[in-house]
Amino acid sequence: MKIKSVEPFILHAPLNTDSISDSTHTISHWGVVGAKIVTEDGLEGYGFTGTHAHLPSDRLITSCISECYAPMLIGEDAQDGDRLWAKLARYPAVQWVGRAGVTHIALAAIDIALWDLRAKRAGLPLWKLLGGATVDRLEAYNTDIGWLSIPKDRLVEGSLRSIEHEGFKRLKLKVGHADPMIDIGRIEAVRKAVGPGVTIAIDGNGKWDLPTCQRFCAQAEALDIFWFEEPMWYDDIASHVALARSTWIPIALGEQLYTAEAFNAFIASGAVHYVQPDVTRLAGITEYIQVAHTAHSSRLPVVAHVGDMGQVHVHLSYWHPATPMLEYIPWIKDCFAEPIRIEDGHYVRPQMPGAGCTLTKDAVAAFSKPC
Ligand SMILES: [Mg+2]
Repeated sequence: MKIKSVEPFILHAPLNTDSISDSTHTISHWGVVGAKIVTEDGLEGYGFTGTHAHLPSDRLITSCISECYAPMLIGEDAQDGDRLWAKLARYPAVQWVGRAGVTHIALAAIDIALWDLRAKRAGLPLWKLLGGATVDRLEAYNTDIGWLSIPKDRLVEGSLRSIEHEGFKRLKLKVGHADPMIDIGRIEAVRKAVGPGVTIAIDGNGKWDLPTCQRFCAQAEALDIFWFEEPMWYDDIASHVALARSTWIPIALGEQLYTAEAFNAFIASGAVHYVQPDVTRLAGITEYIQVAHTAHSSRLPVVAHVGDMGQVHVHLSYWHPATPMLEYIPWIKDCFAEPIRIEDGHYVRPQMPGAGCTLTKDAVAAFSKPC
């Protein structure tokens, strides 16, 4: 498993609609930015992070891969995952300029590619390499019907379609208008249409402050909200503790946290109830496992955020015993040799050896950008 080459790539895959918005972001493409690692005997491992398809910042990631990490990996044994993770993550000069951010999500891509290689060498899908599935069927919840840019009538239509025709029983709606009562009206309309048996989570993408969240929650409690995701600024532990103490609505967060230490601080403070790590923002599968085990030992559920649109997380979620469900956003699935697939509101368990990241030739030809 001696590493022969590390080849970065950037793909910009169009969404299944012109564009979408939440309270903070508007995007038309999803960036699949990462590396192919090839061993001397010809095995190919793929790993990637997810971006907003902004080429200048995507190139910072691929530059970190080719300039910083590739020279440290060539000639190494890809089997030595933990040692290689530490070699890259704790390399003094790189650590000096970034224990989070660009260097960290570049490492995510590398770490995932190394896991992909090891699973392929073992001839096993990642979930099986990790120890096997802990559930027969993994439930999915649908985020792709709930964007803030969708008008209220279409929000209700999409929610009903999702429940009645696609088999979902769990939805997530974005919130974060300047007037939170507009969001209450949207949630009320969906709750009225889908009835009491459907799970509705909401996601603020960090937009509001503490008083706005408290005013909103006082109204939203009557609507049976499953969780309130990223209510406030991503790193503000104290405000999340205060909110958690003032409402019974559970707090979910983690998609913007880069390190296991950041998760430790939120968990230890009682500032989070649903822990949402993302392999594409943490430094890959290796650090995700640390976070998932920490959450599990604190008796908290782990529900990954899908910066990878589920390709890797479906493996981790089938395996990890603290995981009751996984987010579903189907934007980039057709870029991969084994795309994520939903049947009756549940993820189909992957069967191909690897971590679900092997790109198709067609996707590379159609969506590649120069690194
Ligand atoms: Mg979110």
